[in-house]
Amino acid sequence: MVAANRNYLTALDAAIGDADHGSNLDRGFTAVREKLAASLPDDTGAVFRLTGMTLLSTVGGASGPLYGTFFVRMGKACEGKAELGLGDWSAALDAGVEGIAFRGHAEPGDKTMLDALLPAREALREAAARGAGLAEALAASAAAAEEGMRATTPLVARRGRASYLGERSAGHQDPGATSAYLLLKAAAETISMSASGCAPMPPAR
Ligand code: ADP
Ligand code: MG
Repeated sequence: MVAANRNYLTALDAAIGDADHGSNLDRGFTAVREKLAASLPDDTGAVFRLTGMTLLSTVGGASGPLYGTFFVRMGKACEGKAELGLGDWSAALDAGVEGIAFRGHAEPGDKTMLDALLPAREALREAAARGAGLAEALAASAAAAEEGMRATTPLVARRGRASYLGERSAGHQDPGATSAYLLLKAAAETISMSASGCAPMPPAR
């Protein structure tokens, strides 16, 4: 998902940043795919932790430490679990989002990845509370992230590089909110494919 949207993410970052968000994340997730292909841990916590550590060491800029922290915190929440149910997934997303907020000090409405992730985590909690299945809940969280991502367009950035533009950052969709939506969409699509009996995408060639 990240590789396929590399140019799109970079174009969004060209408008209000330094045109590297797509290449940053593609470098990081390519390294993640290689590591997971070489040895896939059977503990989901270890999968997330390896993902986070790899992003921390390969992705620069603001998004590397933020997504690195996101996955490391998710890994901590999933430690020792071979499988994740909806409650586990929801707790993991909570931990990851808290990690981003802790590290980046962004508030809702600051025009960052949190503006996609916070509604996504709310939607996941609500879906869990009404007893939805995992695939339905992940689809609801991706839909909420998409709405949050679109709502970043009119906002004035108050964090990160885009904040240097002040009012001129308004009128552009935030790149990090967009990548956050794409990650959650990838999770939702992967789960719905495996729930319908199709094989999930292999982690790497
Ligand atoms: P850089 O801005 O250093 O070039 P990227 O282009 O990879 O890094 O990532 C930019 C994205 O990072 C922004 O679109 C925004 O969503 C996110 N971001 C920047 N600063 C913060 C922050 N303090 N908290 C949360 N997200 C942030
Ligand atoms: Mg950038």
